Amino acid sequence: MIGVTILGSTGSIGVSTLDVLSRHPNEFRVCALTANQDYKKLFEQCQQFKPAYAVIVDEQAAKKFADLLADSSLKTELLTGAKHLLTVAELIEAQYVMAAIVGAAGLLPTLAAAKAGKRILLANKEALVMSGKLFLDEVRQNNAELLPIDSEHNAIFQCMPTDCAANFSDSGVNKILLTASGGPFRNTPLDQLESVTPDQACAHPNWDMGRKISVDSATMMNKGLEVIEACWLFNTSSDYIQVVVHPQSIIHSMVQYNDGSVLAQMGQPDMRTPIAHALGWPNRMQSGVEALDLFAIEHLQFEQPDLERFPCLALAYDAMNSGGTAPAILNAANEIAVGAFLSGELGFTKIASVIEQTLNTTESGSVDTLELVLAADQAARKTAQEVVHGGKF
Ligand code: NAD
Ligand code: MG
Repeated sequence: MIGVTILGSTGSIGVSTLDVLSRHPNEFRVCALTANQDYKKLFEQCQQFKPAYAVIVDEQAAKKFADLLADSSLKTELLTGAKHLLTVAELIEAQYVMAAIVGAAGLLPTLAAAKAGKRILLANKEALVMSGKLFLDEVRQNNAELLPIDSEHNAIFQCMPTDCAANFSDSGVNKILLTASGGPFRNTPLDQLESVTPDQACAHPNWDMGRKISVDSATMMNKGLEVIEACWLFNTSSDYIQVVVHPQSIIHSMVQYNDGSVLAQMGQPDMRTPIAHALGWPNRMQSGVEALDLFAIEHLQFEQPDLERFPCLALAYDAMNSGGTAPAILNAANEIAVGAFLSGELGFTKIASVIEQTLNTTESGSVDTLELVLAADQAARKTAQEVVHGGKF
């Protein structure tokens, strides 16, 4: 039995992971589940999967969880506080760690899993965007395995000649074609974007996801973060990554070779496919996803990304090309701006302005240590908050 810890089990990716695991009770055992606040969902998950540990970050929610636990016969041990995300990422009995916390909050636990030499199923792209080489060095030095869960990166991984450590320049690959749905506002008249609501932004046409990544998909910052993620995972520069808008989300990305071949990975837009791929790799296993019915798909469309509509995408390319802590600053400013948009404090089109101003006013430095990354993250958050509240646009 392979032990699995799921960081962020109550989220969209966490729930899909448990769905896949529930189909393979003789191969996988759930060791630990974690949540920020949603103690009710976490408790239900614990009743079904009976993990040894449950972690809740929020203290009030943990007290409520403790009451539910006391009234039950469940043997799960409750651990409270963010530091225990690291405890369960390092558990000896868990060989695999699903990193599915959203945002920078996932960085330290995901790094802990790398240091402990786990197979990391990486959904939390923000962790890699922030820490880049530092993160990959930890993976290498501790013989951890890094398997991408992001559907595009999982698709690219499947289409690459060897694993993620392949030497890009010798591989015959001359382009990564990173597909993007274009989100809910692909065709919205530009003058209406200013007044779109959080619910409209979160109504993704193809994918059912958490609210932060849904807004990122609407601004296309998600694709920007994914360009950076792809550079690190596949050891290449952003020059080799072309974003292709493909509204149907049937092709999850492609790899173009120098002999003219283009390999694509296709499937239903359902995260259980990449999750099952990474859990089973190098073997294949059932995910519960329906087979793709090619005859039901009328057509596949491809478009150039519109950088006027999606300025966040250009900001992400710029941050990756500047290097150092710029991607961490970009990520932190984005988290603050998206949070402010979701709480009604900031207009949709101001998200990009907040990020741009934060990048322009926060000094970027080297990423030689984790402390430098965390300091850049904190500084950028402070600046972005000031920009949001000062309304300096
Ligand atoms: P979500 O909002 O649905 O779930 C987030 C999870 O993280 C929850 O379990 C929540 O309790 C936990 N969490 C939130 N803040 C936390 C904190 N401060 N400390 C500890 N735990 C915290 O998000 P999601 O859609 O499942 O996305 C998770 C990650 O996976 C993100 O990085 C996202 O970019 C990535 N991802 C998601 C999808 C998708 O289809 N949902 C696809 C690709 C990549
Ligand atoms: Mg993706």
